[in-house]
Amino acid sequence: SDNEESNINKSDETKAVKKAFYVPIERNKEIQEARMELPICAEEQIIMETISNNPVVIICGETGSGKTTQIPQFLYEAGYSSKDNDNPGIIGITQPRRVAAVSMSKRVAQELSLSEQEVSYQIRYDATISPKTVIKFMTDGVLLRELANDFLLSKYSAIIIDEAHERSLNTDILIGAVSRVLKLRAELSEDDGGKIKPLKIIIMSATLRVSDFTQNKNLFDMVPPIINVSARQFPVSIHFNRRTPNIDYVSEAFKKVCKIHTRLPHGGILVFLTGQNEISILCKKLRRKFPYLTQYKSKQLLEEEKIVGDVESLTAKEADVEIGDLDIGDKEVGEELFDTDSEDSEENDEITVDERSGPLYVLPLYSLLSTHAQLRVFEAPPEGTRLCVVATNVAETSLTIPGIKYVVDCGKVKERRYDVITGVQSYVVDWTSKASADQRAGRAGRTGPGHCYRLFSSAVFNDQFQQFTIPEVYRMPIEGIVLQMKAMNIDTVYNFPFPTPPDRNHLRKAERLLQYMNALDENGGITELGRVMATFPVAPRFSKMLIIGQQHGCLPYIIAIVSALSVADPFIKDYHLDISMNSDDDVEEEDNEDFDVRYNELSEIQKEAISQKEHRKLIRKRFYDVQKKHAGLDPTSDILKLLNVVGAYVYEGGTDEFCERNFVRPKAMEEIHKLRRQITNIVQVNCPGVDVCLDSKMKPPSIVQLKAIRQIITAGFIDQIAIRKGLIDKSSKIFSSARNVEYCTMWADDNVFIHPTSILYHHKPPDFVVYQELHRTSKVWMKGITVIESSWLSKLGKSLCTFSKPVDLQVKSKKNKDTEKIAYVIPSFGPKNWELPPIKI
Ligand code: ADP
Ligand code: MG
Repeated sequence: SDNEESNINKSDETKAVKKAFYVPIERNKEIQEARMELPICAEEQIIMETISNNPVVIICGETGSGKTTQIPQFLYEAGYSSKDNDNPGIIGITQPRRVAAVSMSKRVAQELSLSEQEVSYQIRYDATISPKTVIKFMTDGVLLRELANDFLLSKYSAIIIDEAHERSLNTDILIGAVSRVLKLRAELSEDDGGKIKPLKIIIMSATLRVSDFTQNKNLFDMVPPIINVSARQFPVSIHFNRRTPNIDYVSEAFKKVCKIHTRLPHGGILVFLTGQNEISILCKKLRRKFPYLTQYKSKQLLEEEKIVGDVESLTAKEADVEIGDLDIGDKEVGEELFDTDSEDSEENDEITVDERSGPLYVLPLYSLLSTHAQLRVFEAPPEGTRLCVVATNVAETSLTIPGIKYVVDCGKVKERRYDVITGVQSYVVDWTSKASADQRAGRAGRTGPGHCYRLFSSAVFNDQFQQFTIPEVYRMPIEGIVLQMKAMNIDTVYNFPFPTPPDRNHLRKAERLLQYMNALDENGGITELGRVMATFPVAPRFSKMLIIGQQHGCLPYIIAIVSALSVADPFIKDYHLDISMNSDDDVEEEDNEDFDVRYNELSEIQKEAISQKEHRKLIRKRFYDVQKKHAGLDPTSDILKLLNVVGAYVYEGGTDEFCERNFVRPKAMEEIHKLRRQITNIVQVNCPGVDVCLDSKMKPPSIVQLKAIRQIITAGFIDQIAIRKGLIDKSSKIFSSARNVEYCTMWADDNVFIHPTSILYHHKPPDFVVYQELHRTSKVWMKGITVIESSWLSKLGKSLCTFSKPVDLQVKSKKNKDTEKIAYVIPSFGPKNWELPPIKI
């Protein structure tokens, strides 16, 4: 590795003495042995010397080489968090994913034989940090927020930024920001005779594609040294499908796993699919085909997995380098078996239990699975079974599963796309990148030669796969990041050292939105309001709602709503509960007519599943009926449904039993609860004397409060107003339901529609609404809708009223007639409790 050495500053070599204060560690024998197997441990000396001699070091190493678990330990042992040392801070390490922060801190604590108070984590909902903390794992968002309060990051002596290759939005911003912190700390430590110490930055990547960090002249003064940890990688034979199946890669994956399991030697199987829906379906099919558990136990396993979430992992895993040792030509095992495809009808969809081959130990793996269920993949599979993990791209670089020999790759990834101008979002399942497909293949070659079965042809791979995945900064809303930067006193965001800068229009739009919310003044400087908004760990829209909520006596409700909106949808989707016939719930709802025709062709089991689904619909509807029961009002908002869930959950004692009965995710409810408490604490610290009762004291809102809540929601989504098109056209057509009724928004050129999952879909279409999100499938849909009154706009959205034509038209004509004041609220004449109404059939 001449290459690496040449990167290291030779003249400094003399300074590369060992740290004076080594922290002695006693590791248990088993752990010590496992560590010694890790490629990164062989490089400890050179890594630590390089870190000692350079302010910034980049470490690249194949997934599983030991970066995340070992580098913090190296630093710890070298005294980087020892109070006796000349580095008086602690070691911080950031992760783009919460699960990784939690599970890796647990693992490192275990390896160091230290407690959770010493090796701790901090994520949005939870923290184990204490004065004794020496190593702190956190999400990148947590460190960004800390920067707003302490731009010197003075409590850290070293910051490790992990998974930088993923190019998550927060990670990119962090790298830009710490490049500035570094300079400041270096300058101050020279000026000030040693009170402030220089900071060490370690950027870690699973791939060698780090030129955006090294070649960017705005970022670091010197090109940082790159240490490439070469992991032992066994050859992986790649087998392409001869043909690319049209859509049904889940069935294709099922067939492939069946073949591997029944015909090929032992070794774990890892299947890459795009989302939880597909994963649930494949797991169920495989478990039925190769059962290994008694009825009881397998039920228990399924129960555990019900704690699943519904929102797909939002970031695409990007992998940037070709795996050196991939041996495409290798044909040692069963090539013939796999190249000829789908013709053989041996495994058709009708599942018969296969008793000849042994049982298969099938485990799902995706971001929102409970931590407990997630950690099962690290345990050895039960005696006599073969491990089969069905994963999203979480398994691509974040978590390394031991013992994988076969990879089955559908080649697809589900990505959130976001149109920066219109704000329209969509989840798109599309081909992943070449780099990422190679990264997936590499998972098969960790413990011995392996095989990767790609469920697509080499022609498709060559012609249709992009080289790399696009960084998130190009495809996510950035107003939250812009507000964070302003709070760090970075006034000209255009000059910020982004590893790859976003489009100027994108930045301008984010600034403008923050101006509408009065978080920024007309020159783009942060306002007092903006500073307060930046202290809440939620999106700017939501912090704005919190602040207005406080001014109008609705704070407990707004805290509950904002917490629920910030957590992934708490309602369990149907596809987690039965083998769904349709993978996209949007499509399912749109194609109702088709659906009736197909109904007759369904089996009894499938019909039963549908009747259960109808039952679930009724159960869920009760969360809307609450409002009718309490206040005698027709439904006015999908967002109020969330408040009702939170209220009913607390009222019934916050039990898992409640969640099960109502098809709600317990994990989501817990996160909502934690976030409520956290926000309440922030309010109590920032605004002493404000009454923010939690839980038991929060009564259902009165009619007046309900109206105020809708006004506050309007303020938060002030740029997301939609107007019924008929109103603008002055058409006199009357609709009885909102189905197919067109709306205009400020941003999107297309007309938009009320999504079938909205309660308002079934009612008379309102004239004015605000929406939470736009989603594009066959049409552009509004989700999370709240009915508003046009008269509120002149008050809440002053700056918008002359901005957009449609809004202009309506508001101007009404402006003088009724500039209604926002209702000022006297709390406490609401109904008594949150009891849900009976189920209505
Ligand atoms: P990298 O960050 O380079 O991808 P890691 O440090 O995450 O590598 O993993 C190093 C090794 O530690 C892997 O072999 C992985 O399987 C193992 N490992 C990580 N977490 C756990 C855990 N909770 N239990 C058992 N082994 C683990
Ligand atoms: Mg890692």
